[in-house]
Amino acid sequence: MSMAKLEILKLPDQALRKKAAYVDGVSDAERRILLDMAEAMYLNKGVGLAALQVGIDKQLAVIDVGEGLVKLINPAIIKREGSSVAEEGCLSVPGLQVRVRRANRIKVTFFNEKGEVSRLSADGLASRAIQHEIDHLSGRLIVDYLNPIRRLLACFCRRT
Ligand code: ZN
Repeated sequence: MSMAKLEILKLPDQALRKKAAYVDGVSDAERRILLDMAEAMYLNKGVGLAALQVGIDKQLAVIDVGEGLVKLINPAIIKREGSSVAEEGCLSVPGLQVRVRRANRIKVTFFNEKGEVSRLSADGLASRAIQHEIDHLSGRLIVDYLNPIRRLLACFCRRT
């Protein structure tokens, strides 16, 4: 039986609010962290995890929405198409579901584990999970979407 080596930080931990540091070179250290992050994600039944959530200040994220493990180093969105709203949870904000508007389809550049520049396209849950994790890498959390959504709902209520 294995125990998670990495503990997941929860709000209001200010480490979650950093802008994660760019990874200048991909080494065994980053590959090890990504493996440990994947283990922590699976043990906690998440579909994604960013390094800041385990107190590591690097632009690293892992995703698995049931289509296999994806490891992202320095991910950046280069194209967005469409948008939709859906409820999201977060391992760092337990017990809260927040409706978040995200792009439906995205194209992302990132470094793979060999340090090569790579690209992927994603839609559906994978797209949403990647956008959620990229938010984490700049210190943004689902709670940050609460006020604008509530303002929007209040606006609709006045109209009808
Ligand atoms: Zn999260």
